[in-house]
Amino acid sequence: MVLGGGMGGLLTARVLAESFSQVSIVDRDALVGVDRPRRGVPHARHAHALLARGQQILEELFPGLRQELIDAGIPAGDIAGNLRWYFNGRRLAPGSADLLSVSATRPQLEAHVRARVAELSNVDFMERFSINGLVTGAGGRVTGVRVQSDDFGIAATLDADLVVDSTGRGSRTPAWLEELGYGRPAEDKVKVDLAYTTRHFRLKNDPYGTDLSINPVASPANPRGAFFPKLADGSSQLSLTGILGDHPPTDPEGFMAFAKTLAAPEIYEAIQDAEPLDDPVTFKFPASVRRRYELMRAFPAGLLVLGDAVCSFNPVYGQGMTVAALEAWTLRNMLAHGSVPDARRFFREIAKVVDASWTISAGADLGFPGVEGERTFQTRMGNAYMARLHAAAVNDPTVTAAFFRVAGLVDPPTALMRPAMMRRVLGAPRPARAA
Ligand SMILES: Cc1cc2nc3c(=O)[nH]c(=O)nc-3n(C[C@H](O)[C@H](O)[C@H](O)COP(=O)(O)OP(=O)(O)OC[C@H]3O[C@@H](n4cnc5c(N)ncnc54)[C@H](O)[C@@H]3O)c2cc1C
Repeated sequence: MVLGGGMGGLLTARVLAESFSQVSIVDRDALVGVDRPRRGVPHARHAHALLARGQQILEELFPGLRQELIDAGIPAGDIAGNLRWYFNGRRLAPGSADLLSVSATRPQLEAHVRARVAELSNVDFMERFSINGLVTGAGGRVTGVRVQSDDFGIAATLDADLVVDSTGRGSRTPAWLEELGYGRPAEDKVKVDLAYTTRHFRLKNDPYGTDLSINPVASPANPRGAFFPKLADGSSQLSLTGILGDHPPTDPEGFMAFAKTLAAPEIYEAIQDAEPLDDPVTFKFPASVRRRYELMRAFPAGLLVLGDAVCSFNPVYGQGMTVAALEAWTLRNMLAHGSVPDARRFFREIAKVVDASWTISAGADLGFPGVEGERTFQTRMGNAYMARLHAAAVNDPTVTAAFFRVAGLVDPPTALMRPAMMRRVLGAPRPARAA
């Protein structure tokens, strides 16, 4: 029984379908055939990029998916060569990371993945059911869930050999565990007080050339950021990002004024005479939250948790879907080597996946002076080195490519510390800060 049919839930169902005779996905939304933003995933209205490692895992789980997306008209190109990146206000030299990025919107990607999952004969979708609680049996084992039909109000109990919670950031597993006497998992939080505000446009002039997207990334020197991909239907999506309460406005004038302050001037130039296709919508993200299930002393058998329900990362680093994919991949490997994994062993394994990404994103957030949190020597050194690396990448395509292989979770962060790379980074002139 998979709770939640977002990206984490779909990938989990795909993996479980190899080992279980029947897998059900329960969600309060209608899912099958839906390719637009839906109520249960309001963040899907905003720019979503799947990191390179996530693209690789999806292709392994659904062979041919990449080509299917390209055939559907979704723009694709090299992650370091065909995406225009600005860090600390400066444009990075395009490189070749040898990693393809297919620039699908979140609803498009989810719809294609969901269609593939729906083809599996032993997976079914229980749509428009709210999940109200867990059912436990002998020895405290989780034996199912209590649900309620949103259409008919009918309550039911569904039995399961295994329940996986992938209901996202709002997961109620901590509260359910407390009710069952296990206590709540400890939480790590990094308060970023971030907001995305997104609007779609039809442009009169093409600012992209051969690029798929223009992305001035928020950095301590330029804390306002944006993602500006071109979409399959020829329109453009502009997601503005503002941290520490500097939220991009939703009124059209305020939205334009915010866009004018971005490090990439071509974005404002492109939208000022463009046709807006909708009103700006906003999504507030107060903090990155990591639930430390791996540190709990006891945990009921028959229950696992993954995806945003375990860790919801600052979205500007684009890690969430890929980490969910890596966690599902971990579950797959564990199932291939035996029966249903012990929950604590599973949480210890996925903690390694989460650690790697959390170190990158939470560490980078602590580079912003206003973000609260302990700055260890390692964090300060890491951020100082990354600023030098981004400066070197302004003129050095090899550095750009190496950075995106690490940011894409394909290569480990140590790849940026190899002697040859350090020589390139530390030997490069330090450009003056952009105004
Ligand atoms: C603004 C923003 C931008 C982002 N950009 C990126 C990006 O560029 N790249 C990236 O990889 N990630 C990005 N993310 C993160 C990404 O969206 C999540 O990591 C990803 O969706 C993981 O999803 P999940 O399946 O764990 O949860 P979700 O996608 O949140 O899905 C949870 C599902 O559970 C269902 N559900 C919840 N509660 C109940 C209930 N009680 N009963 C029934 N059903 C329920 C919901 O309907 C939903 O379908 C972004 C997030 C935000 C907020």
